[in-house]
Amino acid sequence: MNLQKIILISFGYFDSEFLKKITENIHREFFVNVEIKDGHLDLSDFFEAERGQYNANKLSHFIESHFSKDDSKIIGLFNVDIFIPIFTYIFGQAYLKGRSGIASSFRLSNERYGIEADDDLLLERFSKEIIHELGHTYGLIHCYNSDCIMRSGTYVEDIDQKNSSLCPKCKETLLSI
Ligand SMILES: [Zn+2]
Ligand SMILES: [Zn+2]
Repeated sequence: MNLQKIILISFGYFDSEFLKKITENIHREFFVNVEIKDGHLDLSDFFEAERGQYNANKLSHFIESHFSKDDSKIIGLFNVDIFIPIFTYIFGQAYLKGRSGIASSFRLSNERYGIEADDDLLLERFSKEIIHELGHTYGLIHCYNSDCIMRSGTYVEDIDQKNSSLCPKCKETLLSI
């Protein structure tokens, strides 16, 4: 296994302690250096007024074309409601076996569902979502093991149900990359 270094670019004005904990969770899964960078972006260019949401495909393309300079894996972190045309919303997406992806915490907070805030749970959900997208960039596809972090999910409950790590089979696939 020779995984490339990971760079998280924060466009969501996240707390630095929160980001640090995310890097630790990611490091635990992939054992590579995880760096954090601050990104600045006029998000209004990606806003689609008729849906009241941000275009995830355009954001993904922007991250890929502006930040992917070498073999590092780049994930853009956002806190806005992102969508792709065939879905009502998404939590994130990534280029399979590619260099980049995006993830948004927007629909991961309890407050979004009228439930009391839980920062630890938000950290866990966002970490899982980012690890899932990183898995795609390393070439992992969706997994049918219901506990596996590479299982696809539609609702925040789906994220809560799965583990914070890759199943043995996905780990094996990762090791063979
Ligand atoms: Zn996926
Ligand atoms: Zn799996």
